[in-house]
Amino acid sequence: MDKQQEYVLRAIEERDVRFVRLWFTDVLGQLKSVAIAPAEVEAAFEEGIGFDGSTIEGLTRVYESDMLLSPDPSTFQMLPWRDDRDRVARMFCSVLTPDGEPARTDPRAVLERQLARVADAGFTCYIHPEIEFYLVNRDDQGRITPTDDAGYFDHVPGGTAHDFRRRAILMLEQMGISVEFSHHEGGLGQNEIDLRFADALSMADNIMTFRAVIEEVAIQEGCIATFMPKPFVGQPGSGMHTHFSLFEGDHNAFYDPAGQYQLSATGRAFIAGILRHAKEITAITNQYVNSYKRLWGGDEAPSYVCWGHNNRSALVRVPMHKPGKAQAVRVEYRSLDPAANPYLAFATILAAGMKGIEEGYELPAEAEDDVWALTDGERDALGIEPLPTSLKRAVSAMSGSDLVADTLGEDTFEYFRRNKRHEYQAYDAQVTDFEIGQFFRRV
Ligand code: GLN
Ligand code: MG
Ligand code: MG
Ligand code: MG
Repeated sequence: MDKQQEYVLRAIEERDVRFVRLWFTDVLGQLKSVAIAPAEVEAAFEEGIGFDGSTIEGLTRVYESDMLLSPDPSTFQMLPWRDDRDRVARMFCSVLTPDGEPARTDPRAVLERQLARVADAGFTCYIHPEIEFYLVNRDDQGRITPTDDAGYFDHVPGGTAHDFRRRAILMLEQMGISVEFSHHEGGLGQNEIDLRFADALSMADNIMTFRAVIEEVAIQEGCIATFMPKPFVGQPGSGMHTHFSLFEGDHNAFYDPAGQYQLSATGRAFIAGILRHAKEITAITNQYVNSYKRLWGGDEAPSYVCWGHNNRSALVRVPMHKPGKAQAVRVEYRSLDPAANPYLAFATILAAGMKGIEEGYELPAEAEDDVWALTDGERDALGIEPLPTSLKRAVSAMSGSDLVADTLGEDTFEYFRRNKRHEYQAYDAQVTDFEIGQFFRRV
């Protein structure tokens, strides 16, 4: 029993915890939870808790369905939305095979594997996401409408938005997740909460916790929160712009005072890697058929593969920062949406960036124009390519990618591909209201 494990056992006793939830994530990024009695926790640390993994999306094949959950004691937190009498805590877990090997389809293990490679190269990765979501009401007919009609940075007197964000932020802080910034976003009922940077694994865990907290607060406030990338036609989609930096000890490896925008050669190569592999990784960063309605629906979602400084039409942005603020130099990836599996998304983005560093990719010239306003011919001349326009195209770009296959591992890669093929085939088979409206009478 190590120190952290002992701390958890003590905390369970002192705080009179009655249930300990073991959390893990399936391949599609759905949070899974099993509650154990406090008396089981010691055994869980020592030998893991057995469970049947065969019905978890993508986790196992039926003939190897017995799996183990091994809790990570550093993630122990009380769940603040449970009442104070029968207290509940949670820990994130690694999923192990019966022989104690990491399960090949555990997304947390996929990210840990990638982070080991980042660490071998001497780096620690820090991540800061800007998470957008909509608050909506649903009527008896199942129709959804935004909770308010406010816009970007609006102060909404008496509305749901302020109370909601205040409650959510207090709850997140109680769980050790710091919030840097929050505001009403551009869409009706749309909000954004930005989490203070953390190391990549903690941040992926934090995003899973964040979604759970937001959903709980929505229930308390009598509305529904959705991370769906594009819930409303004609309103902006919800993105999860994500800022990455690599540190060598205390030194920001993306910082060079002499570089353009104070970006180092390492930072440039990292961006070059992300850009070169952007089309391959888009199925992971934008995993649903609906994700492509955001990417191609305007309203500041990126559609083309290019980078820029403060250029909001670019896929990758090097944000402005105060001169000389070495720690703040970072790379913002803007296609990611909040419905992605954060473990797989971070792993593939890092794999692309690290490839750029390892192979010394050259960074193409930045896009200085609003790339949406250019003609196709102008974009071609500048070498600016489109992101995939649909899940089908994204999956096809991913299918030929050694980078994604190596990062996810064969089992996760194959599962993901199969699952997504079913999704776009089922979607393509629909006859929509749009088609009825457009074509019914004419043909
Ligand atoms: N909602 C936009 C997106 O989908 C971002 C808007 C913004 O934060 N500038 O990416
Ligand atoms: Mg923002
Ligand atoms: Mg925003
Ligand atoms: Mg941003």
